[in-house]
Amino acid sequence: MKAAVLIQPKQPLEIDDLAISKPGPHEVLIRTAACGLCHSDLHFIEGAYPHPLPAVPGHEAAGVVEAVGSEVRTVKPGDHVVTCLSAFCGHCEFCVTGRMALCLGGDTRRAADAPPRLSRAGSGDPVMQMLNLSAFAEQMLVHEHACVRIDPEMPLDRAAVIGCAVTTGAGTIFNACKLVPGETVAVVGCGGVGLAAINAAKIAGAGQIIACDPVAEKRELAKVLGATDAIDASAPDAVEQVVALSRGGVDHAIEAVGRQASADLAVKVLRRGGTATILGMMPLDCKVGLGALDLLSGKKLQGAIMGMNRFPVDLPRLVDFYMRGLLDLDTIIAERIPLSGVNEGFEKMKAGHSARSVIVFDQ
Ligand SMILES: [Zn+2]
Ligand SMILES: [Zn+2]
Repeated sequence: MKAAVLIQPKQPLEIDDLAISKPGPHEVLIRTAACGLCHSDLHFIEGAYPHPLPAVPGHEAAGVVEAVGSEVRTVKPGDHVVTCLSAFCGHCEFCVTGRMALCLGGDTRRAADAPPRLSRAGSGDPVMQMLNLSAFAEQMLVHEHACVRIDPEMPLDRAAVIGCAVTTGAGTIFNACKLVPGETVAVVGCGGVGLAAINAAKIAGAGQIIACDPVAEKRELAKVLGATDAIDASAPDAVEQVVALSRGGVDHAIEAVGRQASADLAVKVLRRGGTATILGMMPLDCKVGLGALDLLSGKKLQGAIMGMNRFPVDLPRLVDFYMRGLLDLDTIIAERIPLSGVNEGFEKMKAGHSARSVIVFDQ
């Protein structure tokens, strides 16, 4: 199968022929239909977050099940599935207390003595799987706890972005913020995750949704998805603008970029009792904090990973929201590209101008 391989950080991915192993007892072989380009991939490609190499990135995918291992009961060949990097073990402290997004995956990793899931087609040299998925490839071999069956009517290119960006943005509103209708929201950063948070805030009945982004084009998209107001996040008076628009600050501020400045902005625009939720992958030495007066005002700060999802439940619900015309995935997807366009797609992401590029594989 063809796959995009990361050989060295800061180098373009190479399209190469790889071999993929057969499903183990709890594994699922999937024909990849589509995979979104996510900012987290870029962190690994640029070397900001380390990973053993060579490896195949890509983790925001949907496809069709081709084969399953002997013990798999949740999906069968022919099923349409969305994958999720939040592979859960099902029996750790986090799983059994309903916080599956915090599970470290336990035995969903391939056993050390089993053949690697991916290898070079010629030499047989192992190639690392990234986030247990490696979806920039025509096929994926994943643990059954890393995918969920969805409505076969759902278009798979749009289903793919639910696997990471949309689950992260929407899950933050529904699961981490537990937004109450009428509450005010500011979203800092209007890429795929931020736009999904804005759209979910609208679905959840937010009173006011203020989009903050330096790029005018993204502020316009934010308005299409439900933002009631939009401001330039790079303006020197960005904090004052949000506080004025919301008459004293917002109930929920969501940082969806992964930058120190945007995290600080999220904390500064809170009203009394408000909560800042940090989603972005910040550089590893970053710190965000609340001052003494913030704490005396009942302000709160929390991290959230992958929208604190319970993905086997959340993903089919998001699919249902799309099918009923509530979740606007068509606006979140900026372009569809072939696998060979993957490097160009990441160049565009670095330039910061498109919402979401999605690789669509030939079916
Ligand atoms: Zn992602
Ligand atoms: Zn677990």
